[in-house]
Amino acid sequence: MAVSRQKITVLGSTGSIGVSTLDVISIHQDRYQVYALTANSRVSELQRQCEKFHPEIAVVGTAAAAAVLERNLRAKGIQTQVLYGRSSLMAAAASSQSDAVMCAIVGAAGLEPALAVIKAGKKLMLANKEALVMSGHLFIEAVHRYGATLLPIDSEHNAIFQCLPRAGRYSSHLQGVSKILLTASGGPFLHRPVEMLEHVTPEEAIAHPKWVMGRKISVDSATMMNKGLEVIEAHWLFGIPAGQIEVVIHPQSVIHSMVSYIDGSILAQMGNPDMRIPIAHALAYPDRISSGASPLDLTALGTLQFEEPDFNRFPGIRLAYEALEAGGSAPTILNAANEVAVQAFLDRRIGFRQIETLVERTMEKVAVVQGISDIGSILSEDHKARAVAEGFIA
Ligand code: NAD
Ligand code: MG
Repeated sequence: MAVSRQKITVLGSTGSIGVSTLDVISIHQDRYQVYALTANSRVSELQRQCEKFHPEIAVVGTAAAAAVLERNLRAKGIQTQVLYGRSSLMAAAASSQSDAVMCAIVGAAGLEPALAVIKAGKKLMLANKEALVMSGHLFIEAVHRYGATLLPIDSEHNAIFQCLPRAGRYSSHLQGVSKILLTASGGPFLHRPVEMLEHVTPEEAIAHPKWVMGRKISVDSATMMNKGLEVIEAHWLFGIPAGQIEVVIHPQSVIHSMVSYIDGSILAQMGNPDMRIPIAHALAYPDRISSGASPLDLTALGTLQFEEPDFNRFPGIRLAYEALEAGGSAPTILNAANEVAVQAFLDRRIGFRQIETLVERTMEKVAVVQGISDIGSILSEDHKARAVAEGFIA
């Protein structure tokens, strides 16, 4: 008897998370089929994915890229419909044809597609943390209003989700929870003398000791702004006040985060640092499927270490707590300034330490707006902050 397979859309399929998602799907072609794949510019990678997964739809950034992809696919007898541009991306996200969508676009560009998934009331697997950080309560309110299912892909948040009491997930009544312990590897510069950090190059910054990831998140991990963004992400995902979210440095990256309960119990989720684990969890939830990741060998690992983060070395974490404290558009400003700063660093227009300086100065200069009730206003605050950050660079 033919069993109906779930149709999955992957937004940002050519990125690090997109590729890992297709890797998990490829092990379970009896359960899942690919409905749509989207990419910005890496057309030859997208073409290989279409040849393997035969999606119904593929979306790229430009008409020129679409023409190349369509010609190459037809030459191989593949009938995938090739579309391009923002409105096609939004349509692919919202399509009633798919059962679940992986949001793996990097940065603010992923916000509107993620909201389109939410408005369609779908299952949304969220890797794109910037979307949630910049829009906070509006994003979560939309999830509730449209009855969407939100599953976190960020390894820490996926771990927290697994360790929280099931009944309380996504509510502010997490019975018995005293604290979230958000673990951080500390990135490549955990113990490098602070005075040496200004000489860090983009190549060094994107060489993460534990995870292979896209360039933006790799730089965020090196500055530890990534952990700052994750504090904000955890606050919105689980309705937990900032004061109950604590960052713990754990260089081995096998505990992906913990939940501390009032009776003294601490629950941790462990595994090798491999994003296919949270991806498989979210794809199959509440079932379990194999992810392709190798199981963790505890005795080979031997030791687990923990230390306190140094907010002077890594001001990004402090700035994120300050943004949560300030509320309103402050996290939007933080995220926008950081995206501009990271890109400027990768383009060698500013130094490594100037990333944080630029974020801090932008946060000081742009006035925080409270009580925003629509996404258009979020986007205009985002643009305002980007312009100010660009002004500082110039
Ligand atoms: P990546 O740079 O490897 O991939 C980004 C993807 O987004 C690509 O497919 C690209 O084509 C697409 N994209 C970029 N700009 C776009 C635009 N303007 N319009 C449409 N598509 C666009 O990034 P990644 O490392 O896979 O990260 C993706 C997201 O997941 C980020 O938000 C990141 O913070 C988050 N995340 C990643 C990891 C990881 O291990 N890589 C872990 C946790 C969270
Ligand atoms: Mg993470």
